[in-house]
Amino acid sequence: MHILLTNDDGIEAPGLLALAQALKPVGKLTVLAPDHNWSASGHVKTLHRPLRVWHRRLADGTPALTTDGAPSDCVALAVLGLVEETIDVVVSGINPYANLGHDVTYSGTVTAAMEAAISGIPGLAFSLDGAENHGAELEYEAAAELAAGLVRQVMAQDPPRGLVLNVNIPCRPRQELRGVAITRQGLRVYRDALVHREDPRGRPYYWIGGEAPTGVPDPGTDFWALAEGYVSVTPLQLDLTAHEQVATLQGWGLEL
Ligand code: MN
Repeated sequence: MHILLTNDDGIEAPGLLALAQALKPVGKLTVLAPDHNWSASGHVKTLHRPLRVWHRRLADGTPALTTDGAPSDCVALAVLGLVEETIDVVVSGINPYANLGHDVTYSGTVTAAMEAAISGIPGLAFSLDGAENHGAELEYEAAAELAAGLVRQVMAQDPPRGLVLNVNIPCRPRQELRGVAITRQGLRVYRDALVHREDPRGRPYYWIGGEAPTGVPDPGTDFWALAEGYVSVTPLQLDLTAHEQVATLQGWGLEL
C-alpha cells in the first residue's frame, strides 16, 4: 500500500511527524506537505501562479517533499504525476484542533482528503480535539498510532472510490477512549467578531476574531462523539445538494 501523507499545518508541524512515524509500518510512505500553515484555507486549486516543490526532511530524517501550494494542491500534484508510483490512500493530519460540523468546508486538513476523493482515491483526515490555545503542548503519538490503525482497517475493507472520512480524536489517554463512533456532522456555532483597528500609518484594517466556536452535541453527531469520549468517524461526500429543498424550489415556479 502506498500512502500519501499531507497536512494543512505545514511540513514542520509535529502532528505530521507523528503521523509519518506511525504510518511507516502500514505501507510505503510519501510525504508532500505545504511549506507553511494553510489552516482554514478551504478547498484550493492554485491556477494563477506556478507551484514550486522542494526536497526536505522531517525532524527524524524522513525524506519529504514540500510545496508553496495548498494542502489540496499537494494531493493534486502527487496524483497528476509528481509522484510516479500509484497512490492508494491519502492521509491528512494530524490537525491540532478538531474539524467538526461546518468546519469541514474551511478545513485544509479535510479538503486535502476531498481532493483525493476527486481523483478516486480514499482520503482520511485526522484531527485531534486539542484545547483552545493549547500551544505546542499536544501529545500526538497516541493519536497517530490510533490513526494508523484506522488507516490499516479501512484499507483492508477495499473502500469505495471517493470515500472521505473525517476522523476526530478526543484529547484523552487511550484507556479513557470508549471506542469508534460513526457519526454525522453536527451544528457548529461560530462566535466570530470583526476587529476594526488602524495600522501605524492610520489606515484601517480588519481582522476576523472573536471567541472559539462551540457546537451542539446532538446524539449521533461528531460533537457528541468527542464529548462522550469516542473517536468520531464521519463519512463525507462532495455532493452538497440540499436534496430536501429541491422539491420546495421546484414548487416556487421560478421562470425566466
Ligand atoms: Mn490546521
